[in-house]
This record gives sequence, C-alpha cells and structure tokens, in this order.
Amino acid sequence: MRRRPLIAGNWKMNGLIETAQELVEGIGAALSDRERERKLQCEVLVCPPFTAIHTVHQTVSSKGYSMKVGGQNMDVEGPGARTGEICGIMLRNVGCRYVILGHSERRQFFGETNEIVGKKVEAAFRDGLVPIVCVGEELKDREAGRTIDVIRPQLEAVMPRLPEEASKRSTLVVAYEPVWAIGTGKNATPEQVQEVHAFIRKFLTEKLGADTASKIRILYGGSMKPANAAGLLALEDVDGGLIGGAALKAQDFLAIIDANPASD
Ligand code: PEP
Repeated sequence: MRRRPLIAGNWKMNGLIETAQELVEGIGAALSDRERERKLQCEVLVCPPFTAIHTVHQTVSSKGYSMKVGGQNMDVEGPGARTGEICGIMLRNVGCRYVILGHSERRQFFGETNEIVGKKVEAAFRDGLVPIVCVGEELKDREAGRTIDVIRPQLEAVMPRLPEEASKRSTLVVAYEPVWAIGTGKNATPEQVQEVHAFIRKFLTEKLGADTASKIRILYGGSMKPANAAGLLALEDVDGGLIGGAALKAQDFLAIIDANPASD
C-alpha cells in the first residue's frame, strides 16, 4: 500500500525568532512553487523549539504554506502545577498537529523510559496530536546483535496506550532512529534500515492487524542528508524521514523533500 511520505524536520534546541522565521520562509516559499508545479510528493512537517512554534505557525498559516507544525516533546499531564512543562493542549493551541515523543536525546538526557514514552503517546492522542514515536538502538546494542531486543520493548510500551479506534491508531507515526547515526554523520546502510523497518511493520501487523499496520508511516532518522536521502526513501518500508541537522538548512531540507520517489 502506498503511504503518503512524511518529511519531518526536528530543529531541536535551535532557532531564535528571527532565524526560525527565515528558515520557515525559505522552506515554505519553495514548497509553494513545488505545489504549483504539482511536484510535492509528500507531507512536510517542521518541529521548532517551543519558543518559536507560534511564530512559525503564524507564518505558515498566513502565507498558506504546505507545511505542518509540531512539537518536539510534551508532558503526560494536562494543564496544572507542572513548572517548566508544556502540555498537548498548549501545543494544539499554537497550531501543532504532531509531536515527537521518545527521541533518543529525551531518553538519554531526561531519563525518559519506555513507560513514560507510552504515557506520553496516550496523552498526545487524548489532546488531539499525532505522536511520532522514536525508537532505536545504541551502538553497543547493534554490535551485540541486540537491535531488535531493544526496539521491541520500546514499541510494546506504546501498544496499550493507543486509542481504540482503528482510524486514530493508523495515524501513529513511528521513527526508527539508530542512536549511533543521530548527529554523527554515520549512516545506517539501506539494508540495515529496511531490516529494522520490516521488523517494525511485522510487529505492528501482529499487534494491530494488517489493515492498520499498512497505514502507519515508519520514518527513518539518523544523518539523513541530500546525498543519501533518495536511497533511504526508496526503501519498501520507509515512509519518510525525521531529519535533524539537515533540517536547519532550507536547501538541504528541500533537497531531501525532492528526493522522495514520485508517487504512482
Ligand atoms: C534527529 O535528531 O532526529 C536526527 C535524525 O538528527 P540528524 O539528522 O542530525 O542525525
């Protein structure tokens, strides 16, 4: 089944108001050209830091760019006494449609466990956001042949947290991001990527049924750049990319968008 690819930019902790504005305008204007020429083959998402989301969304909506806006994290709770946190309703309020959850930097630096990520997935659906759940192994796990042993429980923690309705479940996005390939310039080979993506698809099929699993998009993330994007995006079970470093340069991000295989 053909899934509409999603190309998502994770800006991480980068982007003051002025630079964020410049970046979104650079990407947005070029997307409008591609739309006019009917050359846009994918859905495009940018995930700025919290402080720039409102500005970015205002620009996207006022200029009519073909782009969605998302958050990079959210709290499990609704509004209340949680100093320093941002909840899903707040993300929705500033125009977010998606939220990245369980990024390896959240797991590594902020102690997010599989259980916490599962709870956040539930909260995201509750608050009307589509979660992009990141999974991936560290280098030591891959070298020990434990890649799937790490990814399986990461996915298992999410399954009981999904909504009942199949139509909502199928909007879930999973991003396979081998930790050793994030921000390192080290690439996972297309064979390594397809192997893990095929496992994820099989896992989702067993847990959620073939129909739902066939609709769920599985993104690849980890040093995706213009030079390697076409080979990765053409893989059978790769339905787009989650891009860090290359999402901060409009030309690179656009080149990745252009690398999507043409739709049938
Ligand atoms: C990421 O942070 O999600 C990511 C994939 O980063 P990079 O593209 O820089 O490896």
